[in-house]
Amino acid sequence: MLVKEIFGPTLQGEGAHAGRPCVFLRFAVCNLACSWCDTDFRPEGAETLSVDEIVRRLVARDVHGSRLAVVTGGEPALQWDAALAGALRASGFRVHMESNGTRALAAPVDWLTISPKPQFHEGRFELAVTRADECKVVVDDSVDEAALLRYEAMDFGALFAQPCMDARYDAHLARTIELVARRPRWRLSLQLHKIVGLP
Ligand code: SF4
Repeated sequence: MLVKEIFGPTLQGEGAHAGRPCVFLRFAVCNLACSWCDTDFRPEGAETLSVDEIVRRLVARDVHGSRLAVVTGGEPALQWDAALAGALRASGFRVHMESNGTRALAAPVDWLTISPKPQFHEGRFELAVTRADECKVVVDDSVDEAALLRYEAMDFGALFAQPCMDARYDAHLARTIELVARRPRWRLSLQLHKIVGLP
């Protein structure tokens, strides 16, 4: 598996589990190319690791025993499989994954966050995964109330709107607050890890 980084212990920064201690597994490679992507998922500098080595490194990183592995990318669904899911479960980890929703998962996880990027993929609101524990929409100038309505109609549990932390952050934050106020099923998510200076 092509892995960009394994790090921790740290805290989950976003969504329903913000503030929870965890370790991170970041896969390399994504099928989208969002203009404001804040993640380095390029294959350059990534390592090819076996399932056993990934689990060994996560266990080594989880020095305080959170046994929570946040699996992200890039797009983790491109590589996630039953062998890694089984090995993590056997080592006592719960797995929380964040995916862009354009690829079905080859194996289940304990908590699935779909963070759709309608601005950046064909079909816009057409997703491969329309049922998940959480949906987290990154709000830029293109995200409006109609977009939130599309996701409300899908089978998502918690609904989060999160301002894009680019050069127009203040405008995106104001827009997000306005949207959440109008659509009461939604909650504001902030990138807590950036605010407090965690990786
Ligand atoms: S889907 Fe996520 S990881 Fe992929 S390019 Fe977009 S923001 Fe970056």
